Amino acid sequence: MDPYTIFADIVAGRAPSSKVYEDEDVLAFMDIRPMTPGHLLVIPKVPARSLAELDPVIGGKLFQVAQRLAAALRESEVRCDGVNLFLADGVTAGQEVFHVHLHVIPRTPGDGFGLRNRATTPPRADLDYLAASIRGAAGRAQPNAAS
Ligand code: 5GP
Repeated sequence: MDPYTIFADIVAGRAPSSKVYEDEDVLAFMDIRPMTPGHLLVIPKVPARSLAELDPVIGGKLFQVAQRLAAALRESEVRCDGVNLFLADGVTAGQEVFHVHLHVIPRTPGDGFGLRNRATTPPRADLDYLAASIRGAAGRAQPNAAS
């Protein structure tokens, strides 16, 4: 897959963006098609197409910046009674730009944004079965280390 994305151009300054935060590893800017007014994207400067490719240390920094910007949104002129953090990993999850990004979405009552839980609770045995499977995989998983 072509590693190029528009976010690489934004990081390099070749494409315009409305920046709200920048440090040596992380950039945050306004989403060009906001889900709600004030919608931000927090991205690593080093391109990683997916969570599997993202250095977990940088992933931690993305969350720290998102946490700080969530607080900033509440203090800013953006209408913000709540915040959702959202990350789409993979086409099926809705990922469109293949440079990892954490959405920071300000929320107001009735804004129409939302994720839905299933209407029914699965049997405990089903939850325990999947929990054991994920625990086992987590023990084997090797998150991308800094290269
Ligand atoms: P995804 O669906 O991959 O999680 O989200 C991609 C996000 O990137 C979308 O919310 C979309 O509006 C945003 N986006 C796509 N192209 C650009 C761009 O050129 N500039 C900015 N600021 N946001 C973009």
